[in-house]
Amino acid sequence: MSCATNTTVNGGDKQSSGAIHGAYGFRLTGVGQRLERQELPTLEPGPDEVVVEVAGCGVCHTDIGYAFDGVPTRHPLPLVLGHEIVGRVVAAGERVTHWLRQTVIVPAVIPCGECPACKAGRVTICRKQFMPGNDGDGGFATHVVVPGRGLCRVPDKLPDGITLATLSVVADAVTTPYEAIRRAQLGPDDIAVFTGVGGIGGFGVQIAAAFGAVVVAIDIDHQRLDLAAQHGASLTLDASQMNEKDLKSTVRSFAKRSGKRGIGLKIFETSGTAAGQTTAFSLIDHGGYLAVVGYSPRPVEIRLSNLMAFDATARGNWGCPPEQYPAALALVLEGKVALRPYVEEHSLDEAPEVLEAVHKSAIRRRAILIPSTH
Ligand SMILES: [Zn+2]
Ligand SMILES: [Zn+2]
Repeated sequence: MSCATNTTVNGGDKQSSGAIHGAYGFRLTGVGQRLERQELPTLEPGPDEVVVEVAGCGVCHTDIGYAFDGVPTRHPLPLVLGHEIVGRVVAAGERVTHWLRQTVIVPAVIPCGECPACKAGRVTICRKQFMPGNDGDGGFATHVVVPGRGLCRVPDKLPDGITLATLSVVADAVTTPYEAIRRAQLGPDDIAVFTGVGGIGGFGVQIAAAFGAVVVAIDIDHQRLDLAAQHGASLTLDASQMNEKDLKSTVRSFAKRSGKRGIGLKIFETSGTAAGQTTAFSLIDHGGYLAVVGYSPRPVEIRLSNLMAFDATARGNWGCPPEQYPAALALVLEGKVALRPYVEEHSLDEAPEVLEAVHKSAIRRRAILIPSTH
């Protein structure tokens, strides 16, 4: 079905906001319930909001947490999930009309811009942030209403081989490791180690290589390791075949042979598993840096004093500030970060089945839901 844009604008003034009729989305009505297709009410942007016609929305592990594991959404259910959104602005409130007709990536976390955290430059911890599919209806839909700020412009003409829908994963899966790598001040003198090289880690490996670092990829899946070797990793290690001690000594002797002068390994935990976290922590060396990128609800047992003994740093990041999105997107558009091998496209109408398949690990790549109008 096609969604009509009601152009009830005064005197054909294209600067005024429109209203969108006939939009639909897939709502989660309760934990463990199948997503339900529901018509959305007429979508009218507030003065500072825009309506985005969704071209693609990635399925994230966080969505699986909401749908199956009882992780609570901030907005009560029922709720349209999805926070990896790319699309075109088809209606804009009176204060944000400059976004109208722009193609944009919607950041997974949109800060308010005014609170003490935002003013201090810590925008990712803004308590008034808006996350689509968490604070309000998200992108498993034909259209979504989001704040008209912090959006990342996408050029009209994309390089060969890059589709608009695949860029949805830049909203979270690319930008979150990008921000972790930026905060780590990773550079050509460094060795970057990734524990877990699925979607997020796979993008992380490529970003780290683009920053000039030598990259070590650790996983328990051969296909993932092979893909990482083709896309930026100089050394791949199968953690299912090695104990912790051997892993550690292999990484350390590789670091020595590499000739890199950076002080301490820069380790990125991108598996979001307790085992990956334990491995990542065990690799910390003198002056080391551990970035916690993946999420696991499970506790791990570690000797925290290693941070003290090694004068090391551990740090996490909740998403990525909107102002960093253009630089992350540029890496993709320049061909330094390949998305295609890590994603697969599905129709939005298959949302319930796709979510279940991701939950059961029957879909291993990052799934992108595409409304049939695209
Ligand atoms: Zn996510
Ligand atoms: Zn704020």
